[in-house]
Amino acid sequence: MAKYIIIGAGLSGSVIAERIANVLKEKVLIIEKRNHIGGNCYDYKDKNNILVHKYGPHIFHTDYKEVWDYLSQFTDWIYYQHRVLGYIDGKYVPIPFNLDTLYQLLPKNLARGLEKKLIDKYGYNKKIPILELKKVKDKDLCFLAKIIYDKVFFNYSKKQWGLKPEEIEPLVTARVPVLLSHDDRYFQDRYQAIPKEGYTKLFEKILQNKNIEIRLGTDFKDVKNKLKYKKIFYTGPIDMFFDYKFGKLDYRSVNIDFQTYHMKSYQETAVINYPNNYDYTRITEFKKFALTESNYTTIGKEYPGNDGFMAWPILNEKNKKIFNKYWQEVEKIKKGNIFFIGRLAEYKYYDMDDAIATSLKLFHSVRDEL
Ligand code: UDP
Repeated sequence: MAKYIIIGAGLSGSVIAERIANVLKEKVLIIEKRNHIGGNCYDYKDKNNILVHKYGPHIFHTDYKEVWDYLSQFTDWIYYQHRVLGYIDGKYVPIPFNLDTLYQLLPKNLARGLEKKLIDKYGYNKKIPILELKKVKDKDLCFLAKIIYDKVFFNYSKKQWGLKPEEIEPLVTARVPVLLSHDDRYFQDRYQAIPKEGYTKLFEKILQNKNIEIRLGTDFKDVKNKLKYKKIFYTGPIDMFFDYKFGKLDYRSVNIDFQTYHMKSYQETAVINYPNNYDYTRITEFKKFALTESNYTTIGKEYPGNDGFMAWPILNEKNKKIFNKYWQEVEKIKKGNIFFIGRLAEYKYYDMDDAIATSLKLFHSVRDEL
């Protein structure tokens, strides 16, 4: 019998399992519904030896030194800085929208005047969420905000969420702010990289410990009545845990159409966004994350939809209300022997580093009572 049970072998669960096994030197049992570890970070090598991210592109980036140091114990890195282009008005332009994008999409004289106004108002190098820029009073900046909103955000969000940008939590579009600089990277975090052998190998290393047992292909609800444990860490969907008694929380999914081509390179950058054209949101060319040498290349076109795996929580008012009801139940049983953590249990749009930081923090705060 393991004293500690973890539901889910994604980032949140794997980090907790590792800490219990390595720090407390106690036995841990992980129960995972899928037939693989790694959650949505899972990757595999296709027949041309190209590492493909099964659930869509994952680019590790963080400002947390402790998260970077933690992961670096388990992997070497490819130092990759993510750059994304957006296909807008027939041109490939930098995304997030930055000062270069401004000059590429608008006539020079107009762009020069708007650049000056932007910098006078906000300051060079500032990041402005589009929903904030849209509220600006100045009529020229208002005109610019409308262009950015229409060309970068509106149609992309409709495809991505089936909703308008205003209908989702503002923090979501703020992930890709307007950037008042010439920095054309998608992230500005201090640490940015891809695990050298891929994410699945990284998880294997994190979980490589004789104290950790993993049971794949096992649904928690089928075994929950048989389990004996001291503490349980639940990283699955919170509504499922409570048998959906307050209703179902919505998730957006994505169907990824993977295609392999006999060509060395398919597109200029690893990711190209298509806000306004076609039915997909973006195309990822996976070999560009890993500098893989091959005469072939594999791409994935993303078609978001409501059916399929849980990719993103849909953070609108309706779901936030439902989630709060579940969280009140969690608060009630908090003093018990169960912890709820991670993207699905906390219904949060966590990046990978947030998930790790949250697990490290939880372990740190509860280790004395474990
Ligand atoms: N977004 C957009 N246009 C873009 C890129 C992003 O409208 O070209 C919006 C969209 O609502 C998206 C959100 O910004 O869901 C966050 O984008 P991000 O690339 O961070 O999403 P993820 O990589 O998590 O899919």
